[in-house]
Amino acid sequence: MGDLEVSAAEPAEVAARVGILFQDPASQLVMDRAADDVAFGLENRAWPLEAMRTRVPEALGAVGLGGFGRRPGTRLSGGEQQRLALAGVEAPEPAVLVLDEPTANLDPAGAAALFERLAKLREARRTTIVLVEHRADLAWPLADLVLALDGTGSPIALETPARMLSRHGKRLATEGIWLPGDWSATGTGKGAQPGRADGPVARQAEPGLWGAGAAARSVVVDVRHLRYAYARGAEPAIRDVELEIGAGERAALVGPNGSGKSTLLRLVGGLLRPSAGSVLVGGADPRRLPAPLLSRLVGMVFQDAELGFLADTVGEEIALGLDPARAAGAAGLLERLGMPLESFGERSPYRLSGGEQRRLALATALVRRPRVLLLDEPTFGQDRRGWEALATILDELVEAGTAVLAATHDERFATRVASRRLQMADGWVIADDSALAGGSGAFATADA
Ligand code: ADP
Ligand code: MG
Repeated sequence: MGDLEVSAAEPAEVAARVGILFQDPASQLVMDRAADDVAFGLENRAWPLEAMRTRVPEALGAVGLGGFGRRPGTRLSGGEQQRLALAGVEAPEPAVLVLDEPTANLDPAGAAALFERLAKLREARRTTIVLVEHRADLAWPLADLVLALDGTGSPIALETPARMLSRHGKRLATEGIWLPGDWSATGTGKGAQPGRADGPVARQAEPGLWGAGAAARSVVVDVRHLRYAYARGAEPAIRDVELEIGAGERAALVGPNGSGKSTLLRLVGGLLRPSAGSVLVGGADPRRLPAPLLSRLVGMVFQDAELGFLADTVGEEIALGLDPARAAGAAGLLERLGMPLESFGERSPYRLSGGEQRRLALATALVRRPRVLLLDEPTFGQDRRGWEALATILDELVEAGTAVLAATHDERFATRVASRRLQMADGWVIADDSALAGGSGAFATADA
């Protein structure tokens, strides 16, 4: 790295030149207030106070967190935490930036803004950027070189983007790696659309199931005049939301960072108590249901689900509290998600990659075949293979009557999996579109 041999150098020497963003942004936030977190990195690099005074708000503003300086990092949404961690590594203007899936929790505008900043840094400051990223459409145009690794971590090739595509495109596709143009954000791109037929799909129009009126379908999630504020006197995170979700319905919850998606999911899952209004799941208040009953009714995978693993091994984790009738399904499910018990069963859940942890968290919820699945950013960190496996498994659950409510920034996922799109902004559901073309993938014959 420059004239510095990393393996031989003092950590402090390396740290002075390199800014690293880890996959889990929350792990990177150390201070009480957002502004202090950004200042912390500058102090470590001995920035003068005067310079810090302008640089901290500037860095916060660049990531869209202007005005958040006094907010504790723990009181931010997942996407806001990722923005804050980014501000922290970008602020000192390091010569080398190492970013591990920096867009995983960012809304599309936030992701586009990040890539604009990276392009500028590269031009103006000749910053070296090392980026791990599944969003190939954004990342490839920025790259001088692409390093592709296979499932075991061995390099497939190191090439310019164009050469990588022309020489190794096929191999990358078989390895389940996202390629630019795999399909566009609208799901109508030129590339392959796994598991999705273009023709009309009859099941989509089945009356009573898809939007033929609430009366005709069985409502499993019933939200009335729901309001929620994280603290007395704080701006409400949820303002008067009304929502019905029917059995077998697939709803995507979309909206910018901080718009209330995760909060709404936590309320529906019974993890938060409404400030006003009501939530009924399967006709009951989820906060009053005994835990075993609730876990059969509702499966939840939250943004930081990885923090909640309880067992020492993957095999035990998936089997926790699982009734024997379902236990048999666990092995097959993990296998389909690319984590066969033979090779993963004995491993610690905490020693998996971020993408594997996500799939394990999903598997533990999916294997229970709950009536309602609440998923917060289910696809982050997933390569194409894991992504497709998840979409197909969700199709099967939905066909069997499970309702899915998924908060996502992954337009591909929303288009492929959802039949209904709930748009959130500032604590409101501002649009509820059930006339989506999407979701047809559910019953198409999958060729993937
Ligand atoms: P989204 O999931 O859409 O990004 P959230 O539901 O996490 O948004 O957040 C909604 C609002 O609530 C945001 O203004 C966010 O800053 C705030 N918020 C989220 N989590 C907390 C928390 N633990 N304490 C206080 N405020 C929070
Ligand atoms: Mg969220």
